[in-house]
Amino acid sequence: MHKSYEDIRGLTDREPEWWDEHGVPRYRKFAPSDCPDIYASEAVLFEVRCQGCGRRYHVGQTRSGLDYVKHPKMWSIGDLIKAKALEYGDPPNDHRCGGNSMNSEPRRVIEYWSRLRPLEGLREVWRLKDIAGYMEWRRDSGFEVDITRDWVKGG
Ligand SMILES: [Zn+2]
Repeated sequence: MHKSYEDIRGLTDREPEWWDEHGVPRYRKFAPSDCPDIYASEAVLFEVRCQGCGRRYHVGQTRSGLDYVKHPKMWSIGDLIKAKALEYGDPPNDHRCGGNSMNSEPRRVIEYWSRLRPLEGLREVWRLKDIAGYMEWRRDSGFEVDITRDWVKGG
């Protein structure tokens, strides 16, 4: 279950534009550079629905090189999308349908961004000629697809 972040949501009557991977409400249009992990190499904005009441949310998630150091078998977001295995878990905690501690149903990828192609080792970073290009986020609509799971379609 995510925190409710009432301290932040209480500052405005506006609906958040999206929610980050920690369930924090965000109030401007999604951008990969606004995601919490500054080292992220992949960023995705996707739609999920509360399993309790069907409420829709736009949520973000990222991966960074450090994630793979900590969890070598972790899947990239691109691979999760291809396998229809991308998940957000509990929906954002802004309503009381009882679904806050339930699951959310992944629906579709809205924006997919990546940068920093996989490197052999840290040394390669220092040989890069085009650091700015390497750091620049690139959107790839090839990953912006329906990710509704079979267990949702059936229900
Ligand atoms: Zn709900």
